[in-house]
Amino acid sequence: MSRIRLLPLGSADRDMVAALRPALEADFDAVAEVGEIDLDLDQFLDPRRLQYNSTALINHLQGRYASIGGMRGDSPSLLAVVDEDLFIPILTYVFGEAQLGGRVAVVSYHRLQNERYGLPRDQGRLFERLHKEAVHELGHVFGLLHCPARECAMHISTYVEDIDMKPAALCPSCRRQLATLARA
Ligand SMILES: [Zn+2]
Ligand SMILES: [Zn+2]
Repeated sequence: MSRIRLLPLGSADRDMVAALRPALEADFDAVAEVGEIDLDLDQFLDPRRLQYNSTALINHLQGRYASIGGMRGDSPSLLAVVDEDLFIPILTYVFGEAQLGGRVAVVSYHRLQNERYGLPRDQGRLFERLHKEAVHELGHVFGLLHCPARECAMHISTYVEDIDMKPAALCPSCRRQLATLARA
């Protein structure tokens, strides 16, 4: 059975991360827990873009996790949750990033909030979007690639509207792949 450790960082909403835990346990037939670490996110801030470098954050988490023996086969996969705006150098922004087949992923809900688009705050919708992107990034960690099926959480999302179009669930093909990968 897979193990997942959720890591709310910075000022990420702890209640929302706690609510993700049972959802992800059901999605991945996994055991999930919520951890806490002390980490100053300012070190990942790009002063010119005023955004946070998601690759640098992932690399930092991986280095730190390795130093405590966390990269072993039976260690939980880490999903960091932040409300900072993330980027990678070639893109304007990212909703999240993951090490494909690795151990660490990050997801941001900064651009998942209705208020950012001049719409009324909607916590239910926000949680739904965060859940979908959490499944997507963890799917990468467990070895899944992007999926052409629109009815699949592994379908790529560029805009928040794309997220709203897809479900939080994996399509039958990705489910089968996940089962195969888990046995490997
Ligand atoms: Zn992806
Ligand atoms: Zn799929």
